[in-house]
Amino acid sequence: MAATEEEINFKFGKSRQQIENRENKLILEKWQYRWSHSEKGIWTREFFPKVDTKRIKGNFYVNQVYSGHGVFPAHQARFFGKSDTCICGREQGTVAHVMKTCDKWNKVRNNWPGGWDELIIQQIMSFSKCRRDVAKILEELLTCVLEEQ
Ligand SMILES: [Zn+2]
Repeated sequence: MAATEEEINFKFGKSRQQIENRENKLILEKWQYRWSHSEKGIWTREFFPKVDTKRIKGNFYVNQVYSGHGVFPAHQARFFGKSDTCICGREQGTVAHVMKTCDKWNKVRNNWPGGWDELIIQQIMSFSKCRRDVAKILEELLTCVLEEQ
């Protein structure tokens, strides 16, 4: 009967690409919800509030700032029972202290963009110069920590 009609009524289903796009969108939405509402990763979420499938370009040292984990004495104390005092001996070795106020790296920070000390760490890390210098600071901090052991 269809062969005798002049017009054929036919409805195509969704294409494979449309289904994949919809599924990917749903996955991203679920991932975003979980990331936004997780009790873990609070520090890292300050740097990366939105989930994304693109890779983040970091390195061994910069990733320690993004995660708040690694060579920072405050982290070493929390996870491994070591002293939380910075190698300068003046304050707790938090990410903020090491990056912003530790006298040991004043010279490095002298070349940072003006007004950096008024910025929060997430803003400071948006400058490529600062990210490179922070990597150098953490490399040196790691060397100092290893020499102390
Ligand atoms: Zn210090």
